[in-house]
Amino acid sequence: MKVTVIGAGISGLATAYRLLEAGAEPILVEAEPRVGGKIFSEAADGFLIEHGPNGVLDSRPAFTQLARDLGMGERLMPASDAAHHRYLYLRGQLRALPGGPKDFFLGDILSWRGKARMALEPFIPGRRRGPDESVFDFASRRVGVEAARTLIDPMVTGVFAGDAQRLSLPAAFPRLRKLEDEHGGLVRGMVATMRARRKEQGAKAGGPAGPGGTLTSFPGGLSEMTATLADRLPDVRTGAPVSGLQAREGGGWRVTAAGMDPIDSDAVVFAAPTPVIAQLVGGFAPKAAEALNGIRYSPAAVIAYGVKADQLPRPLDGFGFLVPSFEHRKVLGVLWTSSIFAHRAPAGHAMLRIIVGGARSPELLGLDDASLLAVIKSELEITFGAAMPDPVFSRIIRWPAGIPQYELGHLARREAAERALRPYKGLYLGGNGLYGVSVAECIARGDALVGPVMRGEPG
Ligand SMILES: Cc1cc2nc3c(=O)[nH]c(=O)nc-3n(C[C@H](O)[C@H](O)[C@H](O)COP(=O)(O)OP(=O)(O)OC[C@H]3O[C@@H](n4cnc5c(N)ncnc54)[C@H](O)[C@@H]3O)c2cc1C
Repeated sequence: MKVTVIGAGISGLATAYRLLEAGAEPILVEAEPRVGGKIFSEAADGFLIEHGPNGVLDSRPAFTQLARDLGMGERLMPASDAAHHRYLYLRGQLRALPGGPKDFFLGDILSWRGKARMALEPFIPGRRRGPDESVFDFASRRVGVEAARTLIDPMVTGVFAGDAQRLSLPAAFPRLRKLEDEHGGLVRGMVATMRARRKEQGAKAGGPAGPGGTLTSFPGGLSEMTATLADRLPDVRTGAPVSGLQAREGGGWRVTAAGMDPIDSDAVVFAAPTPVIAQLVGGFAPKAAEALNGIRYSPAAVIAYGVKADQLPRPLDGFGFLVPSFEHRKVLGVLWTSSIFAHRAPAGHAMLRIIVGGARSPELLGLDDASLLAVIKSELEITFGAAMPDPVFSRIIRWPAGIPQYELGHLARREAAERALRPYKGLYLGGNGLYGVSVAECIARGDALVGPVMRGEPG
């Protein structure tokens, strides 16, 4: 069974590797000269800079399982305990997020009114299945508007660089929907999940990244995994943007890419961004193309800001901070990278990772490097409430089409694309545009596709 996989980000690499394990002959075709897509770990001047994802939450096993299967289990590196504390920039200062319900109700993140409303969550009836619901509406309904604006909005920004009012809850955070459906509410659901997890793992549940799991990477960054995957694959063709796809007479598909002989195979897995898939299938499945073109991508820029540790205005004693939209700051969030993974800055130095852009400040991607750095320095001074040193090292990475937005109607769009492609045997949809944006979800989608591809069934 020959399978062409289009796009060598983590989705395409992981899918191709799982297909190889299952006995297929995968051919991985990538437009860029390097593999990895959004994943790129760069070592420079003693700093380790992640251009894309900073790490992967271990709560979903697909990532850690793949690492173990690749023989990289020993290299998995969890975030340090120092990263346990998380902050919000709220009402003019950084405020620590409380570690437990008691601290939360005694603390000042929410007003008394907001806390009282949140305490009612277990008594709010579940919503009957109906039309789609935005993440913000769901959160407001369950925990109240103040908690939705203060806590849920920054969480959404942290994952999607997106707008909680536009993102679809069942598409973007299916687990939250499941907690309500299966347990009647978030508190009940979380308690049940934590109990089950504790039973499974002993006292290990939680960790530096909170109840979602522990942020995990490798000493050399996430590129360790993409490089290992590429090494294991027998046929990886880079610098070859796929531009055509035709059904072959008698079955199978022909893929054409610039500068290469056409590739014939029994099946094709799409692991490129949705506009690329739309362009490839548009000629024969216009309804699929229309649905795929309805998925918007949010721009994001990552700024690595390295400083001398003794010049910092405050200790970077935690994971970093997020900023709710109503604070109208230009930064979406700041990770204290060298506190999360200590070796990412040389001795005597610290590194911050600032994210801007998203639905909130897309115009910042248009600034030149010097102007953007000046904005960042000023934003850090406002949020820290103190002067910041100039960086001794900096790197700016712009992702104009950074993160796909699972907006209201996403599940219907996904279903429409799947339906329109179903008559075309041997075509499979993957990649982060449809089934989950986290690295672990991208890997899990690949895992899920292997059985159907090998059996020639719809994916
Ligand atoms: C700034 C940022 C921070 C993030 N942080 C995190 C994080 O901390 N944790 C986490 O889990 N996730 C994070 N994510 C999300 C995660 O990184 C991505 O969703 C994931 O890496 C996407 O993988 P992918 O393979 O689906 O897509 P991509 O990585 O986008 O790969 C798609 C590939 O297709 C190729 N391609 C495009 N057109 C063609 C063509 N015509 N022919 C052939 N190939 C083509 C592209 O060049 C690319 O290599 C972050 C994303 C960004 C942008």
